[in-house]
Amino acid sequence: MKQSQLFTKTIKEIPKDETSFNAQILIRAGFVDKVGAGIYNFLPLGLRVLNKINNIVRDEMATISGQEVLMAALTPKEVWQTTDRWDNFDALFKLVGNDDKEYALGATHEEIVTPLAKKFLCSYKELPKSIYQIQVKFRNEPRAKAGLLRGREFFMKDMYSFHANQADLDQYYEEVKAAYFRIYARLGLEDLTYLTYSSGGAFSQFSHEFQTLTEAGEDHIYICSDCRVAVNREIIKEHNFCPVCQNKNLTEAKAIEVGNIFKLGTKFSKAFDMKYMDDNGQAQEVIMGCYGLGPSRIMGTVVEVFNDQRGIIWPESIAPFKIHLLSLKENEAANEIYLELIKNNIEVLFDDREEIAAGEKFADADLIGCPYRLVVSAKTLQAGGVEIKARPSDQMGIIPLNQIINKFSH
Ligand code: ATP
Ligand code: MG
Repeated sequence: MKQSQLFTKTIKEIPKDETSFNAQILIRAGFVDKVGAGIYNFLPLGLRVLNKINNIVRDEMATISGQEVLMAALTPKEVWQTTDRWDNFDALFKLVGNDDKEYALGATHEEIVTPLAKKFLCSYKELPKSIYQIQVKFRNEPRAKAGLLRGREFFMKDMYSFHANQADLDQYYEEVKAAYFRIYARLGLEDLTYLTYSSGGAFSQFSHEFQTLTEAGEDHIYICSDCRVAVNREIIKEHNFCPVCQNKNLTEAKAIEVGNIFKLGTKFSKAFDMKYMDDNGQAQEVIMGCYGLGPSRIMGTVVEVFNDQRGIIWPESIAPFKIHLLSLKENEAANEIYLELIKNNIEVLFDDREEIAAGEKFADADLIGCPYRLVVSAKTLQAGGVEIKARPSDQMGIIPLNQIINKFSH
Protein backbone atom coordinates (compact mmCIF):
# COMPACT_ATOMS: atom_id res chain seq x y z
CA MET A 1 0.00 0.00 0.00
CA LYS A 2 1.28 3.43 -0.92
CA GLN A 3 0.88 5.89 1.91
CA SER A 4 0.17 8.67 -0.58
CA GLN A 5 -3.01 6.74 -1.46
CA LEU A 6 -4.00 5.75 2.08
CA PHE A 7 -7.50 6.90 3.08
CA THR A 8 -6.26 8.18 6.46
CA LYS A 9 -3.60 10.58 7.73
CA THR A 10 -2.03 10.61 11.15
CA ILE A 11 -3.28 13.26 13.55
CA LYS A 12 -0.97 15.27 15.81
CA GLU A 13 -3.41 16.44 18.47
CA ILE A 14 -4.81 14.11 21.08
CA PRO A 15 -8.56 13.89 20.43
CA LYS A 16 -10.25 16.03 23.10
CA ASP A 17 -13.27 13.86 23.76
CA GLU A 18 -11.26 10.67 24.23
CA THR A 19 -9.78 9.80 27.61
CA SER A 20 -8.50 6.28 27.04
CA PHE A 21 -4.94 5.76 25.88
CA ASN A 22 -5.69 2.96 23.42
CA ALA A 23 -8.35 4.96 21.58
CA GLN A 24 -6.31 8.17 21.61
CA ILE A 25 -3.35 6.56 19.95
CA LEU A 26 -5.41 4.41 17.56
CA ILE A 27 -7.30 7.52 16.44
CA ARG A 28 -4.10 9.57 16.05
CA ALA A 29 -2.47 6.82 13.99
CA GLY A 30 -5.57 6.40 11.80
CA PHE A 31 -6.67 2.91 12.85
CA VAL A 32 -10.09 3.87 14.18
CA ASP A 33 -12.37 6.88 14.31
CA LYS A 34 -14.76 7.76 17.09
CA VAL A 35 -18.48 8.02 16.34
CA GLY A 36 -19.67 8.30 19.95
CA ALA A 37 -18.98 6.88 23.41
CA GLY A 38 -18.01 3.25 22.89
CA ILE A 39 -18.68 3.42 19.13
CA TYR A 40 -15.85 3.37 16.60
CA ASN A 41 -15.31 3.12 12.85
CA PHE A 42 -12.58 0.71 11.82
CA LEU A 43 -10.39 2.28 9.11
CA PRO A 44 -8.08 0.54 6.61
CA LEU A 45 -5.15 0.10 9.02
CA GLY A 46 -7.40 -0.85 11.93
CA LEU A 47 -9.44 -3.31 9.91
CA ARG A 48 -6.26 -5.07 8.80
CA VAL A 49 -5.32 -5.59 12.44
CA LEU A 50 -8.83 -6.71 13.43
CA ASN A 51 -8.97 -9.16 10.52
CA LYS A 52 -5.61 -10.63 11.51
CA ILE A 53 -6.82 -11.15 15.07
CA ASN A 54 -10.01 -12.73 13.74
CA ASN A 55 -8.09 -15.04 11.44
CA ILE A 56 -5.88 -16.27 14.28
CA VAL A 57 -9.06 -16.97 16.24
CA ARG A 58 -10.59 -18.80 13.24
CA ASP A 59 -7.45 -20.84 12.80
CA GLU A 60 -7.49 -22.02 16.41
CA MET A 61 -11.24 -22.64 16.51
CA ALA A 62 -10.77 -24.92 13.49
CA THR A 63 -8.29 -27.04 15.49
CA ILE A 64 -11.07 -27.80 17.99
CA SER A 65 -13.69 -28.53 15.31
CA GLY A 66 -15.48 -25.20 15.65
CA GLN A 67 -17.66 -24.46 12.59
CA GLU A 68 -18.15 -20.83 11.71
CA VAL A 69 -21.64 -19.41 11.28
CA LEU A 70 -23.11 -15.93 11.29
CA MET A 71 -26.26 -15.50 13.32
CA ALA A 72 -28.82 -12.72 13.15
CA ALA A 73 -27.94 -9.59 15.09
CA LEU A 74 -31.55 -8.44 15.30
CA THR A 75 -33.25 -10.75 17.76
CA PRO A 76 -36.96 -11.02 18.69
CA LYS A 77 -38.17 -10.29 22.20
CA GLU A 78 -39.78 -13.74 22.60
CA VAL A 79 -36.51 -15.67 22.74
CA TRP A 80 -35.26 -13.38 25.52
CA GLN A 81 -38.53 -13.83 27.39
CA THR A 82 -38.11 -17.60 27.16
CA THR A 83 -34.96 -17.34 29.28
CA ASP A 84 -36.24 -14.50 31.45
CA ARG A 85 -33.50 -12.19 30.20
CA TRP A 86 -35.61 -9.55 28.42
CA ASP A 87 -35.99 -7.70 31.72
CA ASN A 88 -32.86 -8.98 33.41
CA PHE A 89 -30.05 -8.37 30.91
CA ASP A 90 -29.28 -4.76 31.86
CA ALA A 91 -27.26 -3.81 28.81
CA LEU A 92 -29.74 -4.97 26.17
CA PHE A 93 -30.42 -2.41 23.41
CA LYS A 94 -34.14 -2.66 22.69
CA LEU A 95 -36.09 -1.37 19.72
CA VAL A 96 -39.50 -1.59 18.11
CA GLY A 97 -40.03 -2.69 14.51
CA ASN A 98 -42.77 -1.20 12.32
CA ASP A 99 -44.64 -4.47 12.86
CA ASP A 100 -44.96 -3.12 16.44
CA LYS A 101 -42.91 -6.08 17.64
CA GLU A 102 -40.00 -5.58 19.99
CA TYR A 103 -36.44 -6.63 19.28
CA ALA A 104 -33.04 -6.55 20.90
CA LEU A 105 -29.74 -6.00 19.18
CA GLY A 106 -27.69 -9.12 19.82
CA ALA A 107 -25.69 -8.80 23.05
CA THR A 108 -24.89 -12.51 23.29
CA HIS A 109 -26.44 -15.42 21.38
CA GLU A 110 -27.50 -18.28 23.63
CA GLU A 111 -31.12 -17.35 22.87
CA ILE A 112 -30.52 -17.66 19.13
CA VAL A 113 -28.08 -20.55 19.00
CA THR A 114 -30.09 -22.95 21.17
CA PRO A 115 -33.25 -22.95 19.02
CA LEU A 116 -30.98 -23.07 15.97
CA ALA A 117 -29.04 -26.11 17.18
CA LYS A 118 -32.29 -27.78 18.22
CA LYS A 119 -33.23 -27.97 14.53
CA PHE A 120 -30.17 -30.06 13.63
CA LEU A 121 -28.85 -31.87 16.69
CA CYS A 122 -31.50 -34.46 17.50
CA SER A 123 -29.63 -37.70 18.04
CA TYR A 124 -26.58 -38.82 20.03
CA LYS A 125 -25.03 -39.52 16.62
CA GLU A 126 -25.04 -35.77 15.88
CA LEU A 127 -23.24 -34.82 19.10
CA PRO A 128 -20.93 -33.24 20.03
CA LYS A 129 -20.97 -30.14 17.82
CA SER A 130 -19.48 -26.72 18.24
CA ILE A 131 -20.36 -23.57 16.30
CA TYR A 132 -19.07 -20.04 16.58
CA GLN A 133 -19.36 -16.64 15.00
CA ILE A 134 -17.36 -13.43 14.91
CA GLN A 135 -19.92 -10.67 15.03
CA VAL A 136 -20.68 -7.18 16.18
CA LYS A 137 -22.38 -7.22 19.56
CA PHE A 138 -24.36 -4.39 21.09
CA ARG A 139 -24.45 -3.58 24.77
CA ASN A 140 -25.67 -0.45 26.43
CA GLU A 141 -22.59 -0.31 28.64
CA PRO A 142 -22.86 2.32 31.37
CA ARG A 143 -19.09 2.95 31.43
CA ALA A 144 -17.99 3.25 27.81
CA LYS A 145 -14.86 5.27 28.54
CA ALA A 146 -12.12 2.76 27.91
CA GLY A 147 -11.88 3.00 24.13
CA LEU A 148 -11.87 -0.40 22.44
CA LEU A 149 -11.74 -2.11 25.82
CA ARG A 150 -15.42 -1.41 26.41
CA GLY A 151 -17.47 -0.71 23.33
CA ARG A 152 -21.21 -0.30 23.16
CA GLU A 153 -20.78 -1.82 19.72
CA PHE A 154 -17.88 -4.27 19.68
CA PHE A 155 -16.67 -7.51 18.16
CA MET A 156 -17.08 -10.82 19.87
CA LYS A 157 -16.16 -14.35 18.95
CA ASP A 158 -18.81 -16.44 20.62
CA MET A 159 -18.74 -20.21 20.40
CA TYR A 160 -21.32 -22.65 21.72
CA SER A 161 -20.86 -26.39 22.16
CA PHE A 162 -23.45 -29.15 22.51
CA HIS A 163 -22.77 -32.45 24.24
CA ALA A 164 -24.49 -35.70 25.14
CA ASN A 165 -23.04 -35.80 28.64
CA GLN A 166 -21.08 -33.84 31.21
CA ALA A 167 -17.84 -35.79 30.70
CA ASP A 168 -17.83 -34.88 27.03
CA LEU A 169 -18.35 -31.17 27.85
CA ASP A 170 -15.62 -31.33 30.51
CA GLN A 171 -13.15 -32.73 28.01
CA TYR A 172 -14.05 -30.22 25.31
CA TYR A 173 -13.85 -27.36 27.79
CA GLU A 174 -10.20 -28.23 28.44
CA GLU A 175 -9.52 -28.28 24.70
CA VAL A 176 -11.01 -24.81 24.37
CA LYS A 177 -8.87 -23.58 27.26
CA ALA A 178 -5.75 -24.81 25.47
CA ALA A 179 -6.88 -23.25 22.17
CA TYR A 180 -7.41 -19.91 23.92
CA PHE A 181 -3.88 -19.96 25.26
CA ARG A 182 -2.57 -20.69 21.78
CA ILE A 183 -4.48 -17.61 20.57
CA TYR A 184 -3.04 -15.35 23.28
CA ALA A 185 0.44 -16.73 22.58
CA ARG A 186 0.10 -15.89 18.88
CA LEU A 187 -1.02 -12.39 19.84
CA GLY A 188 2.09 -11.91 21.98
CA LEU A 189 -0.01 -11.78 25.17
CA GLU A 190 0.97 -15.14 26.65
CA ASP A 191 3.15 -13.87 29.50
CA LEU A 192 0.60 -11.26 30.56
CA THR A 193 -2.50 -13.43 30.40
CA TYR A 194 -3.76 -15.42 33.38
CA LEU A 195 -6.34 -18.16 33.60
CA THR A 196 -8.63 -16.62 36.18
CA TYR A 197 -11.17 -18.46 38.28
CA SER A 198 -14.52 -16.81 38.71
CA SER A 199 -17.86 -17.98 40.02
CA GLY A 200 -19.43 -20.61 37.82
CA GLY A 201 -23.20 -20.56 38.28
CA ALA A 202 -25.35 -23.62 38.90
CA PHE A 203 -23.45 -26.12 36.77
CA SER A 204 -19.82 -25.83 37.82
CA GLN A 205 -17.92 -24.41 40.76
CA PHE A 206 -15.91 -22.09 38.56
CA SER A 207 -16.01 -20.49 35.17
CA HIS A 208 -12.76 -19.23 33.70
CA GLU A 209 -11.73 -15.85 32.44
CA PHE A 210 -8.59 -15.01 30.54
CA GLN A 211 -7.28 -11.81 32.07
CA THR A 212 -4.44 -9.75 30.58
CA LEU A 213 -2.48 -7.55 32.96
CA THR A 214 -2.69 -3.84 32.18
CA GLU A 215 -3.13 -0.72 34.28
CA ALA A 216 -5.94 0.21 31.88
CA GLY A 217 -7.83 -2.91 32.93
CA GLU A 218 -11.15 -2.59 34.71
CA ASP A 219 -10.93 -5.87 36.65
CA HIS A 220 -8.95 -6.73 39.76
CA ILE A 221 -7.47 -10.18 39.90
CA TYR A 222 -5.48 -12.01 42.58
CA ILE A 223 -2.52 -13.89 41.18
CA CYS A 224 -0.76 -17.00 42.46
CA SER A 225 2.68 -16.59 40.94
CA ASP A 226 3.62 -20.24 41.54
CA CYS A 227 0.70 -21.64 39.55
CA ARG A 228 0.30 -18.75 37.09
CA VAL A 229 -3.44 -18.62 37.73
CA ALA A 230 -5.59 -15.96 39.33
CA VAL A 231 -8.87 -15.48 41.17
CA ASN A 232 -11.38 -12.80 40.19
CA ARG A 233 -12.39 -10.11 42.71
CA GLU A 234 -15.99 -11.40 42.90
CA ILE A 235 -14.94 -14.81 44.12
CA ILE A 236 -11.97 -13.75 46.20
CA LYS A 237 -14.58 -12.89 48.84
CA GLU A 238 -15.60 -16.52 49.28
CA HIS A 239 -12.52 -18.15 47.83
CA ASN A 240 -9.41 -16.33 49.01
CA PHE A 241 -6.78 -18.89 48.07
CA CYS A 242 -5.24 -20.33 44.93
CA PRO A 243 -7.61 -22.98 43.48
CA VAL A 244 -4.61 -25.01 42.32
CA CYS A 245 -2.20 -25.03 45.30
CA GLN A 246 -4.35 -23.48 48.07
CA ASN A 247 -1.70 -20.81 48.64
CA LYS A 248 -3.21 -17.74 50.34
CA ASN A 249 -0.42 -15.43 49.33
CA LEU A 250 -1.98 -13.83 46.24
CA THR A 251 -0.98 -10.55 44.58
CA GLU A 252 -3.59 -8.08 43.42
CA ALA A 253 -3.28 -6.69 39.88
CA LYS A 254 -5.37 -4.78 37.37
CA ALA A 255 -6.37 -6.68 34.27
CA ILE A 256 -8.81 -6.79 31.38
CA GLU A 257 -10.90 -9.83 30.48
CA VAL A 258 -9.93 -10.88 26.97
CA GLY A 259 -12.01 -14.04 26.97
CA ASN A 260 -14.13 -16.27 29.14
CA ILE A 261 -15.43 -19.82 29.04
CA PHE A 262 -18.44 -21.16 30.83
CA LYS A 263 -20.17 -24.49 31.40
CA LEU A 264 -23.81 -23.70 30.77
CA GLY A 265 -25.03 -27.21 31.58
CA THR A 266 -28.73 -27.56 30.73
CA LYS A 267 -29.74 -23.97 31.49
CA PHE A 268 -30.53 -23.06 27.89
CA SER A 269 -31.40 -26.50 26.55
CA LYS A 270 -34.04 -26.74 29.30
CA ALA A 271 -35.44 -23.31 28.50
CA PHE A 272 -35.82 -24.15 24.81
CA ASP A 273 -36.64 -27.83 25.39
CA MET A 274 -33.68 -29.02 23.37
CA LYS A 275 -33.26 -32.79 23.76
CA TYR A 276 -31.52 -35.55 21.87
CA MET A 277 -32.28 -39.28 21.51
CA ASP A 278 -29.72 -41.47 23.22
CA ASP A 279 -28.77 -44.93 21.88
CA ASN A 280 -31.70 -46.47 23.78
CA GLY A 281 -34.18 -44.14 22.12
CA GLN A 282 -34.61 -42.11 25.33
CA ALA A 283 -34.86 -38.31 25.20
CA GLN A 284 -32.03 -36.64 27.13
CA GLU A 285 -31.13 -33.06 27.86
CA VAL A 286 -28.32 -31.54 25.83
CA ILE A 287 -25.35 -30.19 27.85
CA MET A 288 -23.91 -26.89 26.64
CA GLY A 289 -20.79 -24.77 26.97
CA CYS A 290 -20.13 -21.21 25.78
CA TYR A 291 -16.83 -19.55 24.98
CA GLY A 292 -16.45 -15.81 24.45
CA LEU A 293 -13.50 -13.76 23.25
CA GLY A 294 -13.26 -10.09 22.33
CA PRO A 295 -11.25 -9.31 19.15
CA SER A 296 -11.75 -5.53 19.33
CA ARG A 297 -11.04 -5.46 23.07
CA ILE A 298 -7.90 -7.49 22.33
CA MET A 299 -6.84 -4.90 19.76
CA GLY A 300 -7.16 -2.20 22.44
CA THR A 301 -5.38 -4.38 24.98
CA VAL A 302 -2.42 -4.97 22.67
CA VAL A 303 -2.09 -1.20 22.23
CA GLU A 304 -2.25 -0.66 26.00
CA VAL A 305 0.56 -3.12 26.65
CA PHE A 306 2.81 -2.70 23.61
CA ASN A 307 3.71 0.95 23.15
CA ASP A 308 6.29 3.58 23.96
CA GLN A 309 6.07 7.36 24.09
CA ARG A 310 6.33 7.45 20.28
CA GLY A 311 3.51 5.11 19.39
CA ILE A 312 2.27 1.57 19.02
CA ILE A 313 4.55 -1.49 18.83
CA TRP A 314 2.49 -4.19 17.07
CA PRO A 315 3.37 -7.85 17.48
CA GLU A 316 4.30 -9.11 14.02
CA SER A 317 1.35 -11.53 13.89
CA ILE A 318 -1.24 -8.72 13.84
CA ALA A 319 0.69 -5.69 12.58
CA PRO A 320 -1.13 -3.84 9.77
CA PHE A 321 1.99 -4.31 7.63
CA LYS A 322 5.22 -6.09 8.39
CA ILE A 323 7.37 -3.35 6.87
CA HIS A 324 7.10 0.41 6.74
CA LEU A 325 9.27 1.48 3.83
CA LEU A 326 10.25 5.15 3.90
CA SER A 327 11.56 6.97 0.88
CA LEU A 328 13.61 10.06 1.69
CA LYS A 329 13.61 11.72 -1.70
CA GLU A 330 14.60 8.46 -3.42
CA ASN A 331 11.22 7.35 -4.75
CA GLU A 332 12.60 5.59 -7.80
CA ALA A 333 14.93 3.27 -5.89
CA ALA A 334 12.36 2.82 -3.11
CA ASN A 335 9.64 1.96 -5.59
CA GLU A 336 11.74 -0.88 -6.99
CA ILE A 337 12.13 -2.32 -3.51
CA TYR A 338 8.42 -1.84 -2.89
CA LEU A 339 7.48 -3.76 -6.05
CA GLU A 340 9.91 -6.53 -5.22
CA LEU A 341 8.45 -6.89 -1.70
CA ILE A 342 4.92 -7.03 -3.07
CA LYS A 343 5.93 -9.59 -5.67
CA ASN A 344 7.14 -11.76 -2.82
CA ASN A 345 3.92 -11.31 -0.81
CA ILE A 346 5.63 -9.33 1.92
CA GLU A 347 3.24 -6.81 3.45
CA VAL A 348 4.58 -3.30 3.12
CA LEU A 349 3.34 0.23 3.69
CA PHE A 350 5.36 2.48 1.38
CA ASP A 351 5.73 6.10 2.48
CA ASP A 352 6.14 7.56 -1.00
CA ARG A 353 4.79 11.01 -0.05
CA GLU A 354 6.97 13.59 -1.72
CA GLU A 355 5.98 16.71 0.18
CA ILE A 356 6.49 15.22 3.66
CA ALA A 357 9.70 15.88 5.61
CA ALA A 358 11.89 13.04 6.87
CA GLY A 359 11.16 13.81 10.54
CA GLU A 360 7.45 13.53 9.98
CA LYS A 361 7.86 10.23 8.15
CA PHE A 362 9.88 8.84 11.06
CA ALA A 363 7.28 10.04 13.54
CA ASP A 364 4.47 8.44 11.53
CA ALA A 365 6.35 5.15 11.32
CA ASP A 366 6.80 5.08 15.09
CA LEU A 367 3.19 6.05 15.71
CA ILE A 368 1.74 3.43 13.33
CA GLY A 369 4.11 0.82 14.75
CA CYS A 370 4.92 -1.69 12.00
CA PRO A 371 7.56 -4.20 13.17
CA TYR A 372 10.29 -3.10 10.70
CA ARG A 373 11.26 0.27 9.28
CA LEU A 374 13.26 0.43 6.07
CA VAL A 375 14.64 3.79 4.99
CA VAL A 376 15.86 4.52 1.48
CA SER A 377 17.92 7.69 1.14
CA ALA A 378 20.91 8.92 -0.87
CA LYS A 379 23.04 8.09 2.16
CA THR A 380 21.81 4.49 2.53
CA LEU A 381 22.12 3.87 -1.20
CA GLN A 382 25.68 5.13 -1.05
CA ALA A 383 26.32 2.64 1.74
CA GLY A 384 25.01 -0.07 -0.57
CA GLY A 385 21.49 -0.68 0.68
CA VAL A 386 18.68 0.49 2.93
CA GLU A 387 18.61 1.28 6.61
CA ILE A 388 16.78 -1.28 8.70
CA LYS A 389 15.43 -0.85 12.21
CA ALA A 390 13.08 -3.02 14.27
CA ARG A 391 10.32 -0.89 15.83
CA PRO A 392 11.11 -1.58 19.50
CA SER A 393 14.87 -1.11 19.22
CA ASP A 394 17.06 1.90 18.54
CA GLN A 395 19.64 -0.14 16.65
CA MET A 396 19.96 0.62 12.99
CA GLY A 397 21.92 -1.19 10.33
CA ILE A 398 22.32 -1.29 6.59
CA ILE A 399 20.91 -4.22 4.69
CA PRO A 400 22.19 -4.74 1.12
CA LEU A 401 19.50 -4.47 -1.56
CA ASN A 402 19.90 -8.08 -2.66
CA GLN A 403 19.30 -9.41 0.86
CA ILE A 404 16.02 -7.64 1.65
CA ILE A 405 13.68 -10.27 0.23
CA ASN A 406 15.57 -13.08 1.86
CA LYS A 407 15.44 -11.36 5.23
CA PHE A 408 11.64 -10.95 5.18
CA SER A 409 10.29 -13.98 3.36
CA HIS A 410 9.75 -16.95 5.61
P1 ATP B 1 -16.94 -7.64 31.20
O1 ATP B 1 -17.04 -8.27 32.55
O2 ATP B 1 -15.60 -7.07 30.92
O3 ATP B 1 -18.08 -6.72 30.92
P2 ATP B 1 -18.40 -9.82 30.15
O4 ATP B 1 -18.31 -10.79 31.26
O5 ATP B 1 -19.62 -9.01 30.01
O6 ATP B 1 -17.10 -8.86 30.18
P3 ATP B 1 -18.92 -11.71 28.04
O7 ATP B 1 -20.32 -11.37 28.05
O8 ATP B 1 -18.56 -13.06 28.50
O9 ATP B 1 -18.06 -10.59 28.80
O10 ATP B 1 -18.30 -11.48 26.59
C1 ATP B 1 -17.26 -12.30 26.04
C2 ATP B 1 -16.03 -11.45 25.71
O11 ATP B 1 -16.39 -10.33 24.91
C3 ATP B 1 -15.34 -10.86 26.92
O12 ATP B 1 -14.43 -11.78 27.46
C4 ATP B 1 -14.62 -9.67 26.32
O13 ATP B 1 -13.39 -10.06 25.77
C5 ATP B 1 -15.56 -9.22 25.23
N1 ATP B 1 -16.39 -8.11 25.66
C6 ATP B 1 -17.43 -8.11 26.53
N2 ATP B 1 -17.98 -6.90 26.66
C7 ATP B 1 -17.26 -6.08 25.84
C8 ATP B 1 -17.34 -4.70 25.51
N3 ATP B 1 -18.29 -3.91 26.05
N4 ATP B 1 -16.45 -4.18 24.64
C9 ATP B 1 -15.51 -4.97 24.07
N5 ATP B 1 -15.38 -6.27 24.33
C10 ATP B 1 -16.25 -6.83 25.20
MG1 MG C 1 -20.04 -7.06 30.51
